[in-house]
Amino acid sequence: MKKVLEPELIDLRSKLKFSFETGEIWLGENRMMLMHVAAMGAFRNEIIQSLGLERARGLLVRLGYASGVRDAELAKSLPSNDCPEAGIMLGPMLHSFKGMVRVEKRKLEMDIPNGKFAGEFVWENSWEAQTHLQEFGVGTDAECWTQVGYASGYVSTFVGRPVIFKETQCVCKGDHHCYIEARLLEHWEDSEDYLKYYKPENIAGRLIDLQEEVVSLRASLNKTALPASVIGESETFKEALDLASTAAAKPITVLLLGETGVGKEVFAHWIHDNSDRATQPFVALNCAAIPNDLLESELFGVEKGAFTGAQQARPGRFERANNGTLFLDEVGDLTPAAQVKLLRVLESGELERLGDIKTRKVNVRLIAATNVNLQQAVKDGKFRADLYYRLNAYPVNIPPLRDRKADIPLLLEAFIKKYALLHNKRIAGVTDKAMKMLMTYTWPGNIRELENMMERGVLLTASDEMIELKHLFAGVADLLPDEVELSPQGRVNTQSKSSINNLIEEMIKDGISLENCELMLMEAALKKTGGNIAKAAELLGVTRRQVAYCLEKEDKK
Ligand SMILES: [Zn+2]
Repeated sequence: MKKVLEPELIDLRSKLKFSFETGEIWLGENRMMLMHVAAMGAFRNEIIQSLGLERARGLLVRLGYASGVRDAELAKSLPSNDCPEAGIMLGPMLHSFKGMVRVEKRKLEMDIPNGKFAGEFVWENSWEAQTHLQEFGVGTDAECWTQVGYASGYVSTFVGRPVIFKETQCVCKGDHHCYIEARLLEHWEDSEDYLKYYKPENIAGRLIDLQEEVVSLRASLNKTALPASVIGESETFKEALDLASTAAAKPITVLLLGETGVGKEVFAHWIHDNSDRATQPFVALNCAAIPNDLLESELFGVEKGAFTGAQQARPGRFERANNGTLFLDEVGDLTPAAQVKLLRVLESGELERLGDIKTRKVNVRLIAATNVNLQQAVKDGKFRADLYYRLNAYPVNIPPLRDRKADIPLLLEAFIKKYALLHNKRIAGVTDKAMKMLMTYTWPGNIRELENMMERGVLLTASDEMIELKHLFAGVADLLPDEVELSPQGRVNTQSKSSINNLIEEMIKDGISLENCELMLMEAALKKTGGNIAKAAELLGVTRRQVAYCLEKEDKK
């Protein structure tokens, strides 16, 4: 019988070389490095957080396995390799030597040629258990994954057959110590469950697949964004949508009316998409955004040399929208000359580019929009009456958001979905308090304001969390600590509540009575209004009589 080598007989320390000159550490032929357990622990936690337990477990098992394979190769080169059992025991020694864990053999029976291997070991001071416990506390599973991987890699390489270790007890699940048991792979009934951790998974490939999925989702998002914005169940909104829907089916000119931000362009696009021109171009132009002297060339095109700077012939928006739809926003800002030309295109379908004598035919459906009172502009002589009547043949009034608040929850959902996808986040919704504010607010900027606010909310909210009030009113968050008051005009009342609370605290502390408090307020108001009782009463929101009565009572004291 061969002598079993005791651990102390092999001096592993003699295999360890520190080479300061070259910045290397060697264990036999293997380059090693010293690493902080805390750093490794942080890395391990990050893998778990970002990839999830299962994927992280696989990675860590394979990390340990790779290390075990190297150590087995080192062990084979050591003199003990003629005694298999001693060679196996070098694994635990190396494991301890490297500061991973203290190993104590409980059982080791091996007869590889006859297909037998059974080993049981106690682990103490496992670095991985210690790290895991610190971060996650006691749970229900064994967690020494790199170490189980190491043991499996070491023994499998050493004996030349797959041997799998299982951690049957672990301090991470509240056991007294960690305990591992080894068998040949085929002797484990549930080997499949374990084997999966040893097979590298193509995480990069999976990530690329996901990336592609996101890209295609985003592409489809751009298309679906339009209908998503034409969302609403409220009566006022449905009326407008019904009108738009009727208009879509006919080749008529439509005039969209409504405040800034109600979504006129979205409506125009919706009409286009639901018309028989849907496959043809949709061209939009905001008349207020183009300098007056460029407006005509932008709309009707320009011939080379028509004016200084016109170095090339260029079609205008009308030509580009041929067979499709042209959307002219802020049509009230058209210059008188452009108004004449626009009327002509609407009546005859003909136009000439600037500096050109050739007449061109276009077939364009016009959708115009304005937030000014065109009728008034006609009265003021700023807008041609004949053009106004032409445009106003089919007006559609898009209601402001404050008149369709019932739609806010639906709109919120759509915007959160849109921006969560764009910014790669999961958002759990909005808090009750934020929802209350959103329903109270009067939305002077309409849907555009709501959309901007929701985008900001999504950006400022961590994944899986709810959008809070402070995320929506990001700019004034500091001024709005706990309570936010909204005035009926839609302004946020940024008067700090906490300073009032402090004042109240102080007053109670000083024992100021309610009556005194009332008197102090009245005196302050009177001082402000130069003794005018009526004005002071107005400031305090009480009647003149109440102020007078209070002062009288004080006089009698
Ligand atoms: Zn353990």
